[in-house]
Amino acid sequence: MPYQHILVAVDLTEECDPVIKRARELAVSNGAKLSLVHIVEPMAMAFGGDVPMDLSQLQQQQFDQAKERLETLKVKYPDLVVGDCHLTYGQPRQEIHNLAKKSECDLVVVGSHGRHGLALLLGSTANDVLHGAPCDVLAVRLVKRAE
Ligand code: AMP
Repeated sequence: MPYQHILVAVDLTEECDPVIKRARELAVSNGAKLSLVHIVEPMAMAFGGDVPMDLSQLQQQQFDQAKERLETLKVKYPDLVVGDCHLTYGQPRQEIHNLAKKSECDLVVVGSHGRHGLALLLGSTANDVLHGAPCDVLAVRLVKRAE
């Protein structure tokens, strides 16, 4: 059975290019719809929710910046068959799972750094997304660029 709706999760760094390219190839070869998602993590979450200052302005800036980067991606990939382009606040694993369920996606594509040692213990978004995923998950290996 070919995939029908692929969701590609992007962190909006330059590393998201190979992830998008792979998802796009799969969408074309399967004749699937391709949707894209980026999640802006609440700053309070990063600081353990215990910060004695108002982060709302910074948070808005972060959201606006992500919006701009998504627009740049759309220009860079004009042929990208983006069914829907989602930008939400939250925790990546939870939001990706929710969206995959809601949009009836049958494949989620994420990048993976193939971590070792301590970094492996700390986990990764790809690992997080895999656990309890409502559909197949493809982790695209991201190779570190030579300096
Ligand atoms: P990381 O484990 O954080 O290095 O991220 C690995 C992959 O997880 C990225 O290549 C993206 O596919 C996905 N990812 C990480 N952070 C986000 C985010 N905030 N929104 C959507 N996808 C993300």
